[in-house]
Amino acid sequence: MREQVDLILEPQWILPIVPAEQVYEDCALVIHQGQIQALLPIAEAKRRYEANETLKLPNQVLIPGLINAHGHAAMTLLRGYADDLELNDWLENHIWPAESRWVSKDFVRDGTRHAIAEMIRSGTTCFSDSYFFPEVAAEVAVGAGIRMRVAFPVFEFPTAWGRNSDEYIHKGLALRDNFKSHELIDVAFAPHAPYTVEDKTFERIAMLSEELDAHIHLHLHEVAQEVQDSLKLHGVRPIERMEKLGILGPRTETVHMTQLIDTDIELLGRYNSSVIHCPKSNTKLASGICPVDKLRESNIRIALGTDGAASNNRLDMFSEMNAASLTAKINSQDPRSLNAFESLAMATIEGARIMGIDTKTGSLEVGKQADMISVDLGQIHSQPLFNVASQLVYACDSSQVTNSWVSGHQLLKNGELSTINEQELLAKSQEWANRIAGKA
Ligand SMILES: [Zn+2]
Repeated sequence: MREQVDLILEPQWILPIVPAEQVYEDCALVIHQGQIQALLPIAEAKRRYEANETLKLPNQVLIPGLINAHGHAAMTLLRGYADDLELNDWLENHIWPAESRWVSKDFVRDGTRHAIAEMIRSGTTCFSDSYFFPEVAAEVAVGAGIRMRVAFPVFEFPTAWGRNSDEYIHKGLALRDNFKSHELIDVAFAPHAPYTVEDKTFERIAMLSEELDAHIHLHLHEVAQEVQDSLKLHGVRPIERMEKLGILGPRTETVHMTQLIDTDIELLGRYNSSVIHCPKSNTKLASGICPVDKLRESNIRIALGTDGAASNNRLDMFSEMNAASLTAKINSQDPRSLNAFESLAMATIEGARIMGIDTKTGSLEVGKQADMISVDLGQIHSQPLFNVASQLVYACDSSQVTNSWVSGHQLLKNGELSTINEQELLAKSQEWANRIAGKA
């Protein structure tokens, strides 16, 4: 007798990411109760399983859902608001004033929903987010069915979400309690950056992180000025200061890291901390290029993130993988740097490992949650086809994503969002743009 299961997918190719570099043809992925039950030849799947639904996906490849390991989702509402400016000018004269004028619960709800719609459409099934009103963002993610790492922000100065670091931490811990053991939500500390958070707050976060087994996610060594200011003010490089304050450790995710000397890399390696690389944001703001080759030689884990839509301006992991491979090559002056499969791994399993959720997601392995996407490789610019990974990173764009599932729930069906009303969302976002531009 055949075993009853929920779903069998029969794509032309399956690229499970683990084991590395493998591409299976004429194979099926069997899903039951939100989990991957089997990956096996189609003929054998037919003999062993009876599915409620079978989906054939000719010319399509099935891969794990992409993981966007760093961003500020609600900033989609500021996409294109201020471009082509130097980082400090951009932040101090444009982004921070706009945020202090406009950020509210409603802004975060509408902006996060817009971001999630864009991410689902472009193949992301899990994102790490650091922004104000994270409890509102988490509710939107749960409603949309996407997996989210909430990295709640901590600053010293007041914003719409809190008065000081004590209040941010207090609210963040309450949020962590509310979502404890939630299937889709995981909560981490996000002290914003060394220049916006004081020593005593970093020390407190280091202690709490240890106590609660919670991750720490922070912007670090983003631009040269940050390093120079730290040397002037504290007499050490930012990462050395983080070491002294107890922030470095295996749960620590350092975002950007474009300004690195050998001793910085040695510190990352000694504490087994990881790096989140945002090549498009770093390029657009001319911050620098994260030296992924050197980090990989020191066995430092690297994931990929888009950063916010105000500095990218897309939340599109396909263009991020492409940028990661291209910038790695020009930075090392070696075209062998960061090949297509390595970029794909950074956007999937490495992101999951860095966030500590790799038993759930990041690869198409039996027992993991069914977080996956299908991509149409029949488009003219994806043909002819010799190598699936190469096509995905160097030739595809995110409009070729056809279907997306998280824990077996379908979020994108034949190119249509199934958990978000796109027309309503677009109208709301335009209303915000009119208000922000002073046209309302
Ligand atoms: Zn950021």
